[in-house]
Amino acid sequence: MDMELLIGDRFEPGQDAAEPVLDPRTGALIADIAEASTAQVDRAVAAARKAFEKWSRTTPAERSAALLRIADRVEAEAEGFAALEALNCGKPINAARNDEIPAIVDCYRFFAGAVRCQTGAIAGEYMEGHTSMIRRDPIGVVASIAPWNYPLMMMAWKLAPAIAGGNTVVFKPSEQTPLTALKMAKILADELPEGVVNILPGRGHTVGNYLINHPQVDMISLTGDVATGKKMLDAAAKTVKRTHLELGGKAPVIVFDDANIAEVVEGLRAFGFYNAGQDCTAACRIYAGRKVYDRLVADLTDAVASIQLGNDDDTTNEIGPLISLRQRDRVASFVNRAREMNHIQITTGGEAMDKGFYYRPTVVAGATQADEIVRREVFGPVVSITPFSDVDEAVTWANDSDYGLASSVWTRDVGRAMATAARLRYGCTWINTHFMLVNEMPHGGIKQSGYGKDMSAYALEDYTFVRHVMVKHG
Ligand code: NAD
Repeated sequence: MDMELLIGDRFEPGQDAAEPVLDPRTGALIADIAEASTAQVDRAVAAARKAFEKWSRTTPAERSAALLRIADRVEAEAEGFAALEALNCGKPINAARNDEIPAIVDCYRFFAGAVRCQTGAIAGEYMEGHTSMIRRDPIGVVASIAPWNYPLMMMAWKLAPAIAGGNTVVFKPSEQTPLTALKMAKILADELPEGVVNILPGRGHTVGNYLINHPQVDMISLTGDVATGKKMLDAAAKTVKRTHLELGGKAPVIVFDDANIAEVVEGLRAFGFYNAGQDCTAACRIYAGRKVYDRLVADLTDAVASIQLGNDDDTTNEIGPLISLRQRDRVASFVNRAREMNHIQITTGGEAMDKGFYYRPTVVAGATQADEIVRREVFGPVVSITPFSDVDEAVTWANDSDYGLASSVWTRDVGRAMATAARLRYGCTWINTHFMLVNEMPHGGIKQSGYGKDMSAYALEDYTFVRHVMVKHG
């Protein structure tokens, strides 16, 4: 198992406190990973700054070739990456191997192509005797900070557009899930020039905090909690760093009376509970038309009760445990507070399992718009269902949230679907599905979900800045 930091072209152990990395299936210790010291953060930032001088002036073709090599290496080691991610996060091996690794490989390949065909305004004589042109140049040294729910995928979403755009990066994985990032460090050190990417494991309030406040860092990129995002903005204000924030979500799902309920149930069983609901786009806040509400509650309850987890044969598991005891207890406390309300019924689940950090998939019926379970991000295998009377009520409630990342609308009427989607204040709206992401399309939100776009050409824009160069003739 790789346990060393990458600084420049050197691998070395962390010089500060050891952080235990646990197996969420059992709670057993996998490894103690020593975190980076402040002196190591300083050296990593200096290595990234030095590397920026040359990397920022490589051609798109050179950067593209490096990204393609990285993609090939990840693909060649797919089994090893999938096994390590499954171990560290408790993900079912099939989900890690078949869903995540191919999407990660494709992310590096997408940006390898995208950086070679960027578009922009046309050069020309906008003032007599002068030619103007637009450039897109890299920002500089990016402090990149990732969460624990999809460690290797979030790493790809952050690294690929950043290095494609000509930036250099100091990357900090979550202290709970550093293992695949440390394995990835070997590939990055082989395929990129010294210092282009540096990997520093460590906790948020130590390594992360020191890194985001570093005066030599030009941009902060975070996928994480809203509260953490606010800390990034405070840190950024000191030297006016650019920020790229992908924060939480509480995705509304509007199910109209004419929806195909069998498909809705199948969709919610999959998209509300994938990754044990530890997903910022999880289909967790369901609003159902009154005519279909009772049937949806009954059918969804049966479907959710059949979700497979915690089996000894991991190939039969559909979801895994939560990442930590703390996260499991947090999820349980949300459900327990909901249970105390007279109008709410927990129709299935509602309890932890007697092993590791597992929590049973849970349906909370009868929730109202004012309830905590409808308003706050649970980040666990829990969905709420609320009946609505008409489209205005559904749209008002859906938009009545601090978050604005993802949403979905389920109906057989395409006109109603489009009209409703147009009124939703979310970075993404799916129609008759949920959760589907492709590397060509942007992922990101508004309001307290943040504003950074991941994936797509828009991410490349976020990691570069627009410049005007004007030439006087003669
Ligand atoms: P978190 O904010 O606790 O941690 C995210 C990262 O930030 C970790 O690497 C952590 O060490 C670091 N960090 C924490 N405090 C810091 C500080 N003071 N300075 C610098 N770094 C700090 O989030 P998490 O618990 O790992 O992840 C779950 C959250 O992430 C959820 O709220 C979820 O919605 C969000 N998320 C959002 C997206 C998205 O695309 N919008 C994707 C995945 C997860």
